Amino acid sequence: SGSASTAVIPDTVHSNHRSRLLVSRLFQPSNLREGKDLGLECRPGEMTCRSQKLMLQGGLIQPSNPGCFYYLPAAVRALEKLVRLIDDEMHAIGGQKLDMPSLCAAELWQRSERWDLMGKELFRLQDRHGAQFCLGPTHEEAVTELVASQGTLSYRQLPLLLYQVTRKFRDEPKPRFGLLRGREFYMKDMYSFDTSEEAAHQTYKAVCQAYDRLFRRLGLPYVMVQADTGNIGGKLSHEFQLPADIGEDRLVICGNCNFSANLETIEPGRADCPRCQSATLTESKGIEVGHTFYLGTKYSHVFNATYYNAQNKPVVAEMGCFGLGVTRILAAAIEVLSSDDAIRWPGLLAPFQVCVLPPKKGSKTEDLGALAEELCDDLGASLKSLKGEVVLDDRTQLTIGKRLKDAQRLGYPYVVVVGQSAKEEQPKFEVLCQHTGDTMFLSKEGLMDLL
Ligand code: ATP
Ligand code: MG
Ligand code: MG
Ligand code: MG
Repeated sequence: SGSASTAVIPDTVHSNHRSRLLVSRLFQPSNLREGKDLGLECRPGEMTCRSQKLMLQGGLIQPSNPGCFYYLPAAVRALEKLVRLIDDEMHAIGGQKLDMPSLCAAELWQRSERWDLMGKELFRLQDRHGAQFCLGPTHEEAVTELVASQGTLSYRQLPLLLYQVTRKFRDEPKPRFGLLRGREFYMKDMYSFDTSEEAAHQTYKAVCQAYDRLFRRLGLPYVMVQADTGNIGGKLSHEFQLPADIGEDRLVICGNCNFSANLETIEPGRADCPRCQSATLTESKGIEVGHTFYLGTKYSHVFNATYYNAQNKPVVAEMGCFGLGVTRILAAAIEVLSSDDAIRWPGLLAPFQVCVLPPKKGSKTEDLGALAEELCDDLGASLKSLKGEVVLDDRTQLTIGKRLKDAQRLGYPYVVVVGQSAKEEQPKFEVLCQHTGDTMFLSKEGLMDLL
């Protein structure tokens, strides 16, 4: 309105500068300080793996107590991207997102008899009145009680697919391998309510297809194996496994008929395929990143989750539950895609897409600093997909070589060096493409096209 006579807040002259993402300002310990005194090393004697080391050294996570981590800003960016992809796929099959309490009443868990069954894995606590609770390791009880509390549904409301992405708590006997096995971790858990076994199987299939699309988009090859239903209970179950030597699950795959299973579901030591009987079973290891269950009426029966069928008769709903290990997927992706000293991300999850390197302070090309800043601002402003995705490595006291090494270690999909070739009449930028390993010299327009 122009009514303010004195501007208390300064104008926008510096707004670019404020919004520009500067490596020197990122809260990413590997960038903040140099050297090995960072507490970024793994603890002596700790079981470690590639993703744990890379995530510690890259300033993505920091340990707090066993199986618990600070997720630092770069990791949170990647996690949020992963959650958006998951949301996308869950919405595509009709999933509705909600959020349930982590503090779960013991009474619910006693009704399903899992209060005792879960044993020491359950984190238990008491409130000031002496009432007992657990910190939710999974939410079959809670969601079924929630749905049942709405009264009898109509068959027209089914299938009903509810999911959440929340922290889960499990007192794992051996928390290890960083985010692969934590005691507090993020899981996407979806629960389905259907009218019949057949309908529940349709839903089961739809979720498996959604998982397939998700892992394809991430570029992560997985094996879907027949699995044990464990203490979640139920009749039909599959795991989504990423083949990796560090994996804690043993898988068998038949070379003849493609039968695949978690070893724990068949008799140990057998070399013949349970499906086709040929002697072509091979064993490998995998990281369990997802798990699907057809539950039948195990929980809906206990909590009385019912619907009226077309004849207006109340019927107990058929259920399924579908987990994805969100933080585990992030670590597992790094585990299987990276080399020992450089992170390689699924393109869609990289915390930042582009890192721009201006010349070293005091070098012949020092005056190109402004051009590098301009390039950063322009990329972010003219390409919608790059908004907030371009960082400037302004640590110009370091050589280009040193910063380039850092950038490759952190796995930016694109690194742009503003150096000698940007001084030419037709300025060219040196572009390193992490995915293909190619180096290209491109004009600004060429770079925009590439990105
Ligand atoms: P595991 O066999 O590795 O202990 P689980 O079979 O106990 O896993 P589920 O109950 O099937 O796990 O949970 C669904 C998903 O949650 C798993 O497929 C996995 O991706 C993830 N998950 C389970 N436990 C952990 C953990 N301790 N840390 C990180 N992710 C986990
Ligand atoms: Mg477990
Ligand atoms: Mg398992
Ligand atoms: Mg499982």
